[in-house]
Amino acid sequence: MTIPQDRLRQLPAVDKMLQLEAVTDLVLRYGRGSVVKALRAELECVRHAILNNQAAAIEAESILAQAAQRLNQHFLPSLRPVINATGVIIHTNLGRALLSQEAQQAVTEVAANYSNLEFDLDTGKRGSRYIHAEESLKELTNAEAALVVNNNAAALFLVLSALAKDHSAIVSRGQLVEIGGGFRIPDIMVQSGARLIEVGTTNRTRIADYAHAIVDDTAMLMRIHASNFRIVGFVENPTLEELAHLAHERGIYFVDDIGSGAMHNTEIYGLLHEPTVSESIAAGADLVLFSGDKLLGGPQAGIIVGRKVLIQKLKKHPLARAMRADKMCYAALSATLDHYRKNEFMAKIPIWRMIAASLDELEARALSWSQQIGQGEVIRSESAVGGGSLPGTTLPTAVLAITPTPTSTDGFAAKLRGVSPSIIVRIAEGRVLLDPRTVLPEQEDRLVSILKAIINDPL
Ligand SMILES: *Cc1c(COP(=O)(O)O)cnc(C)c1O
Repeated sequence: MTIPQDRLRQLPAVDKMLQLEAVTDLVLRYGRGSVVKALRAELECVRHAILNNQAAAIEAESILAQAAQRLNQHFLPSLRPVINATGVIIHTNLGRALLSQEAQQAVTEVAANYSNLEFDLDTGKRGSRYIHAEESLKELTNAEAALVVNNNAAALFLVLSALAKDHSAIVSRGQLVEIGGGFRIPDIMVQSGARLIEVGTTNRTRIADYAHAIVDDTAMLMRIHASNFRIVGFVENPTLEELAHLAHERGIYFVDDIGSGAMHNTEIYGLLHEPTVSESIAAGADLVLFSGDKLLGGPQAGIIVGRKVLIQKLKKHPLARAMRADKMCYAALSATLDHYRKNEFMAKIPIWRMIAASLDELEARALSWSQQIGQGEVIRSESAVGGGSLPGTTLPTAVLAITPTPTSTDGFAAKLRGVSPSIIVRIAEGRVLLDPRTVLPEQEDRLVSILKAIINDPL
């Protein structure tokens, strides 16, 4: 056996390694400094192994290969695409809605070019960014005016700060929801300086409860859509018309946070009813708030539509500047709204295509996966809309169910996360389930080849 000192002496020097042909490529890709660092780190690992009498490859090529792997890991973007095989369409943790091709294109164009973001092309003078999605939003919702901010939580905060600070806002107890990630509507309200008045009970709130709670300093009645859960049974809530009527009779506002922002009636697609923007406007809401990246299927945004005088007030509020949407958001949002204006959203917007996918089509895809990898069974299951939309609604689907051997389901799922792109799956009843509904057709080949590789190399 060679003594460690001999092997240490045989280790290649960093300077020598830098002259290798193969290193040139790495230097071009990652920069000289990073390559030197990676080589040093790799050599240090080998030295450590040698001194501890562990096996270690000391040839320059293998050290280089290790360093290349290290660099690859090091430069892997923190935020990167994954394959969503969970069947949860608006998956909050996986980035919610996907943009249509047209919306992606619009983002790329404004990102790569100067634009008329705040420039009036007619007058040659300074313009306002707020105009960019406004006409489309007005056209689609019948509202008088619209404003886009960063997300719906910001929209809620802005509306309360501008219209209810040092005043009270009345909300039903059944609507004081937590929207996820520990963010609670009542906390947002308190931060805005509005005084929250809770009325009714968890399951029943009557119009008289609101009427009794209105006092001199009351600024608004609010409806907050309980987006991520459903109370069924002995439930009562006033209609939007009743709330709007009461508010206006008493000279205060009615603000409706509908959460998901459906543009059309969801029942016709076999789903439950989800509040739509135009029905709230039609019912008399002064302002309606919703997200851009839930059922709308666009970029992260908070959209406020409603009465012009109020939108005007919001636009002038100092907080609006702190919450303003960026140019890429406007680009993506406008392109997304155009799909609705042209009534082509079912064909163009990814989340709607996924919702509309037929069981036959999904079954055929799952079957083709199982045939290609030679494993698993196609079974019926349920996909979910997710993203705090349509709670309790599931869509019948067909999934590929794999019983991994000899690994556990958790181990198999971890392996699928460990590859690039990571594949995120659902585990149920001791099996790993892959739902084609949320897997993009262009991802299928990668998915299949990764599955094959992992199944054939279970260790
Ligand atoms: C999702 C949701 C929000 C938060 O919207 P973000 O766009 O995620 O900030 C606020 N209110 C309701 C009712 C929601 O469903």
